[in-house]
Amino acid sequence: MSSTLPSPLRSITVLSGGVGGARFLRGLLHGIRTGVLPGVSADARVTVIANTSDDLWLHGLKICPDLDTVMYTLGDGIDPERGWGRRDETWHVNEELSAYGVENTWFGLGDRDVATHLVRTQMIEAGYPLSEVTRALSQRWLEPTYGEGLRLLPMTDDRTETHVVIADADLDRSPSGKRVIHFQEYWIKLRASVPAESLIFVGLDESTPAPGVVEAITEADLVIVPPSNPIVSVGTILGVPGIREVLRATSAAVVGLSPIIKGHHVHGMAEQMLTSAGVEVSAAGVGLLYGSRSTGGVLDAWLVDSSDADDLVRLSEAGLTVAAVPLLMSDADATAAMAAEAISAAGRAR
Ligand code: GDP
Ligand code: CA
Repeated sequence: MSSTLPSPLRSITVLSGGVGGARFLRGLLHGIRTGVLPGVSADARVTVIANTSDDLWLHGLKICPDLDTVMYTLGDGIDPERGWGRRDETWHVNEELSAYGVENTWFGLGDRDVATHLVRTQMIEAGYPLSEVTRALSQRWLEPTYGEGLRLLPMTDDRTETHVVIADADLDRSPSGKRVIHFQEYWIKLRASVPAESLIFVGLDESTPAPGVVEAITEADLVIVPPSNPIVSVGTILGVPGIREVLRATSAAVVGLSPIIKGHHVHGMAEQMLTSAGVEVSAAGVGLLYGSRSTGGVLDAWLVDSSDADDLVRLSEAGLTVAAVPLLMSDADATAAMAAEAISAAGRAR
């Protein structure tokens, strides 16, 4: 197929989880600003469709970890070491909760962060949908820097939550020998240290895309699937009824970047989630899970790390346009170079 990417590229839509997606977005926006992305207009607009299946209610607060990670990272409020939560954070609320012996101190509820959750919860309780709330929060974090150039959308306004089934030997607590816990508890409290026997996506099948999501995919010049968790970040976005179909139908090229390098996630827990979903833990495994649009999947092109070049044959036989390039998001320049490679591959695919 010859290249039919619009020139210049004016609108890019990204399907993002938390830390991996946010780091990629920082590099993409840096690349747009510095003019290193081939064929991308200097005033190109980026729309982020973020996973909301990690969301939870805690102490009466509505918490949206992936939306907040993207918002704080791009708005320069993130703690750079941790990769989540606010910089210059203090933890008095958490300490006071533990002093009362209140459970759930496993969730890092920072004092600055609590203000975000309070504002969000207040708006939700006043009847605003999450998409409106996210827009309001973005006025502080994103608009001053990016103006119209960046829009953050939740994948859905509906409540969806990823839960994890784990084995539990305490038969008094769990007579079935199994226990179901919220994904955040699995990740933060258990550090994903025990096998996830299966995942339950509560509410996902009945959810609908949030306002603007379908249009953002249909009207984009390019759609990017960044190196986010393929099961619990991108997988849940694709699980919102209608989104997969719109991705398959859009005239935009769809390009993805592997979150697995040499059989390992770099940070995070993609390995555990792929294993529990029965997917081969490799760059090829994830590429084949998403699949080529020519054979019923959602991608046109797929990038693997240079060290995974052995996977290319299998992937191109499956109908994907592929390239092996450095995929370590070590800094904004290296990540912008990854975005540039993704755009080139998309151009070759269409
Ligand atoms: P989360 O919601 O915070 O888990 O973040 P995401 O779902 O957006 O991304 C997490 C995934 O990003 C991890 O499981 C890793 O597989 C992947 N990842 C993290 N850092 C890198 C990197 O430098 N390069 C690549 N290719 N993938 C990365
Ligand atoms: Ca997440």
